[in-house]
Amino acid sequence: MSNWEKNIRRVTPYTPGEQPNQPDMIKLNTNENPYPPAPGVARALRDTETDALRLYPDPAAKDLVHAIAEEYGLQDEQVFVGVGSDDVLAMSFLTFFNGGKPILFPDITYSFYDVWADLFRIPYERPELDAHFHIRKEDYFRENGGIIFPNPNAPTGVSLPLSDIEDIVAHNQDVIVIVDEAYVDFGTQSALPLIEKYENLLVVQTFSKSRSMAGMRIGYAMGCPKLIKYLNDVKYSFNSYTMNRTSIAAGVAAIRDQEYFLETCTKIIETREWTKKELKKLGFTFEDSKANFIFATHENCPAQKLFQALREHHIYVRYFPGGRTENHLRITIGTREEMETFLGFVKEYLKKENLWKF
Ligand code: PMP
Repeated sequence: MSNWEKNIRRVTPYTPGEQPNQPDMIKLNTNENPYPPAPGVARALRDTETDALRLYPDPAAKDLVHAIAEEYGLQDEQVFVGVGSDDVLAMSFLTFFNGGKPILFPDITYSFYDVWADLFRIPYERPELDAHFHIRKEDYFRENGGIIFPNPNAPTGVSLPLSDIEDIVAHNQDVIVIVDEAYVDFGTQSALPLIEKYENLLVVQTFSKSRSMAGMRIGYAMGCPKLIKYLNDVKYSFNSYTMNRTSIAAGVAAIRDQEYFLETCTKIIETREWTKKELKKLGFTFEDSKANFIFATHENCPAQKLFQALREHHIYVRYFPGGRTENHLRITIGTREEMETFLGFVKEYLKKENLWKF
């Protein structure tokens, strides 16, 4: 190894889901929304003035912060925005998990958490989910440097009741507890009301899933003004202009269309519940998902083989090899038609391979 290489910050990076680009593909691998963004987003993009791009955007992204605050009945000082919730979460790790004690997150969870912890040299411990992939709140009642978990959890889709979240926050008032609510709009109760009661709670959400804007990269955190100020201090020490002009305008348009948001979330929830019934008929089992995906396993059909067979037919789902997730597939909920095609293929595959009695 060269001497200069010894000074490198070496990290094992997060592996994002594949982004293939075939015209005939069915993409159920990265939990995107199958419906387009709210109609107002297209208008906002058309109205974007190219000439204005020579100017820096508003570093505080005030219009977007205000629109989000209004939507949730908060003060602007309670909202922080970033380039997707990945950016917001990374900033939060850097800002809040600075005490030197191990932070806690589940053994099976969003696989970016250990990457950020390693990147920022934050020690961590990972309490095991129970045999049904549920978080045991008692595992988080011990000394730690901070806590983070998604609700519902990913890739399991399992959600934790608000009373359990409050217990975790109340037991940990000397550290920051972050609830990553990337998938909360598909049927889980948000911890947001608790931010008025607990200064140590940060709730993070995203426009990528329920607002159909993964390509625009907008995420946000909500918490008490003091937490938001500390986050902004770190952000301004890193990159002042995180939100570009286009994202700000498109984000405002998206959050203002509550009707479209509810309509598309309802459609996804209905398709998810229908897909659960169909998957059960084919012999799959899974914990009850409240997200826009289902984390399923089959007693006769190895997940990896099915993953490959689907892939060869340009149907993409996500597979996490190794450990307790080895025999599961995470299947994003697409449109009803996409799910019919997916299930049709799976049924034929199980028949052909003689893996299930019909
Ligand atoms: N949290 C969880 C649990 C996720 O699954 C994802 C999506 N990969 C994110 C955060 C980040 O999403 P985004 O950066 O698109 O907001």
